[in-house]
Amino acid sequence: METMRLNDVTANDLPWKIKYDASRCTMCGSCVATCSFKAIVPKVERRRMVFSEGNFPEPKARFSAVPVIRQTKSVRDYCRGCGMCEKVCPNDAIKPERNPDTRHPIITRCLGGDSIKRGGRKNLEGSTRTLDTIRVGRISQMTDPSLDAQRHTFDLLAPFGRILPPKKLPFTPDADQQLVTQELTPPVNWVYPVIIGDMSIGALSWRMWEGVAMAVAYLNEECGMPVRMCSGEGGVPVRLLKSKYLKYMILQIASGHFGWNRIANAMPHMVEDPAGILIKIGQGAKPGDGGLLMAQKVAEHIQAIRGVPKADLLSPPNHQGLYSIEESVQKMFLSFNSAFKFRVPVAIKVAASATSVSVFNNLVRDPYNIVGGFFLDGIDGGTGAAHEVSLDHTGHPIVSKLRDCYLAAVTQGRQGQIPLWAAGGLGKTGDLAADAFKMIALGANGVFTGKLILQMAGCIGNDLGRCNACNTGLCPAGITTQEPQLAHRLDPEKVAQNIVNYYLAMDQELKKLMAPIGNSSLPVGRSDALVSTDHAVADRLQIQHVC
Ligand code: SF4
Ligand code: SF4
Repeated sequence: METMRLNDVTANDLPWKIKYDASRCTMCGSCVATCSFKAIVPKVERRRMVFSEGNFPEPKARFSAVPVIRQTKSVRDYCRGCGMCEKVCPNDAIKPERNPDTRHPIITRCLGGDSIKRGGRKNLEGSTRTLDTIRVGRISQMTDPSLDAQRHTFDLLAPFGRILPPKKLPFTPDADQQLVTQELTPPVNWVYPVIIGDMSIGALSWRMWEGVAMAVAYLNEECGMPVRMCSGEGGVPVRLLKSKYLKYMILQIASGHFGWNRIANAMPHMVEDPAGILIKIGQGAKPGDGGLLMAQKVAEHIQAIRGVPKADLLSPPNHQGLYSIEESVQKMFLSFNSAFKFRVPVAIKVAASATSVSVFNNLVRDPYNIVGGFFLDGIDGGTGAAHEVSLDHTGHPIVSKLRDCYLAAVTQGRQGQIPLWAAGGLGKTGDLAADAFKMIALGANGVFTGKLILQMAGCIGNDLGRCNACNTGLCPAGITTQEPQLAHRLDPEKVAQNIVNYYLAMDQELKKLMAPIGNSSLPVGRSDALVSTDHAVADRLQIQHVC
């Protein structure tokens, strides 16, 4: 008998157990070849068979070597439950099963002496989502007529840029009573109210990024929907910077300033202005933390775009020279405004936190009208890589924080001047139109989304610990990897098609929600349209309670 080694890792210590039926397996090898995590391996098992051939029992033993598939028992190469092996097995011989007895969080820390890192989004079991307790309750059928969602013309446009109140517009009538402008007004782009959130070309595979960019171009040029995509921190390929498609891109700058050398060098060659600049101060999934791109994902083209060697790329938690967000933002706004000659709106993205309303308040009161948008990202936002402890335990839900910002602006009579954009777990149930509509009625001008875009492309990760290995560079779906053989699992054209179709469906659904409340433009702040079945939610958000 072997000595029992108490600290050896067994399948029962891991988050997923592989269920394997040797009697169905033909040893084709597809599952092992598919598993990017090396979580299953072919093995040979020694089997003993006892048989008796004569008329009377005369047991004999025969030994044979049987090839089988076995789960790797390692805290490094462990099964993520991605289900790719199940997908490729022609005989339904293998599948992962969630292990409720897992000791993985403990043994990983004990054996590694390092914090756990992963991608995805918050994995702690949530209670009912706030947005799911809210319904669109004010249907205007009797008092004023609902609209026809199929035939009415709707205006689904949201501002990206500072909106001046009428009294501040520098217009004066000339001798012919025509309005003339005396001075520059802040640039504003009117865009589709669902922006594709900031996912960098390092976090995403080049094929995924290409698919998203193709979808955006198609939505704009063939469907007439002015959808914009944010580059994320990490630069943009020079070919795109010099192309006419730049007008659909929002360029992001974050604390690492990755990729901006190339952007600055490409400026004289740009034939179009970008749709906007987004200064990222923080991210809802891991507030207080900078970006993180693990070395295994820093492929050659990423090194070229970012101008870095192959190494872990950690962005600092703060922008350099930061004394206050307001001061730093002001400096950066001025730089960008002058770089793009005041033609490109500049907005800021912060993580929802106990203090984000104060920051918003200060920006709303800024007399120079430099801030062209306030992007607020909540705790349920996704990320390509983070320390698990930050992902699970830091952050702020988006709904009440967005509402607080809107009501703070209302109190000052300045709502709408700095457009509010919200994100963080929106579309988590698969229905982004409903979440977007509710956030808009609570005061957002629009929303942005990232993780849902990955799911449209085929990401199989979820909030219950499935996959979430985006940080490893081994994405089994080819979405967040730079390994050529994995990236080639993804068909960029299929990605583009899925995103376009989702947007077309969502567009119809948004209209289906706007029509009954009688709005042909976005119902920003129309919280009278909402009711909540939860007393505490209704009180907190100042909407009607129903039961
Ligand atoms: S479920 Fe995914 S990670 Fe687990 S063995 Fe199968 S392919 Fe590998
Ligand atoms: S499928 Fe890829 S993108 Fe989705 S959770 Fe897994 S590693 Fe991340």
